[in-house]
Amino acid sequence: MRIGVIGLGLIGGSFALAIRRAHPSAVVVGTDRDEAAIDAALQRGVVDAAATLPELGACDALMIAVPVRQMPELFARLSSHLQSNCVVTDAGSTKGAVIEAARTTFGAHVAQFVPGHPIAGRERSGVGAAAGELFEARHVVLTPLEENDPAAIDRVEQLWQSCGARVVRLEAGEHDRVFAAVSHLPHIIAFALVDELAARPNARQLFTFAASGFRDFTRIAGSSPDMWRDIALDNGAALAEECRRIEERLAALRRAIEARDGETLHTAMQRARAAREHWMAGELAGFRDDAA
Ligand code: NAD
Repeated sequence: MRIGVIGLGLIGGSFALAIRRAHPSAVVVGTDRDEAAIDAALQRGVVDAAATLPELGACDALMIAVPVRQMPELFARLSSHLQSNCVVTDAGSTKGAVIEAARTTFGAHVAQFVPGHPIAGRERSGVGAAAGELFEARHVVLTPLEENDPAAIDRVEQLWQSCGARVVRLEAGEHDRVFAAVSHLPHIIAFALVDELAARPNARQLFTFAASGFRDFTRIAGSSPDMWRDIALDNGAALAEECRRIEERLAALRRAIEARDGETLHTAMQRARAAREHWMAGELAGFRDDAA
């Protein structure tokens, strides 16, 4: 088995390491637009060898793990090199725009493209942060296309399962709406909070007294701006709607604070704490599920 990886960063590097661990006889090859990332991946033994696009298009499976707005141009360059036996997948955090780009650029080869998104990561980026166990017991969402050959979907599913992941399937639009709410919005809020405080004249004083709650809340503001700008733009409609909804929530809390309405504040906090406790305990039965 020959597996290719384009984008030897946190996710691509971790996927390569996990595949090598699960399939010791597999040959894993890769490339990156950054020569230093290729060198580091070779040095760390993340990949067996560097490869060109024609070589990558001839692999049995190919993982594309570059920032989402890099994908359209990359797909266009890759398209003419894709052999019919090569199943392609991606790790992009948004799916609608990536799929649109694949349909535009891959032509008939789009049947070989099974879109995916591993729900695992960390705020550090680059191959130095890659870890073979990153996907263990984590979800990977596949958003298969109607054009996909079921065998191609199975192959991608099996690869992820061999990395220890639990594969689930979602429709692409639903994926983008769900992750706008539970991932993209929290990142925007964390970036906004740190940016707001850092811009104030007394920023040094504020950060001197910021403690563990602030550190927990803003951990994700340490994430890659390249990646998150791309996600925010690609999933703009769903994310803008989430921003609007949270602005309304914040405005309601602000009005309660100004009105010294402790009951409204307490009720909202109580509801949020109970919901978080249920979620942390894995008890989802009490949540509404109108989508089911
Ligand atoms: P990263 O910055 O660690 O790695 C991305 C790599 O892609 C870098 O080495 C970069 O040089 C390379 N690259 C960029 N453009 C390229 C191009 N045109 N051709 C070849 N290589 C290129 O980022 P990451 O965290 O590994 O993210 C990769 C993808 O995985 C993104 O689409 C992201 O949305 C998705 N993702 C990230 C996380 C996370 O927590 N970091 C989680 C799930 C999915």
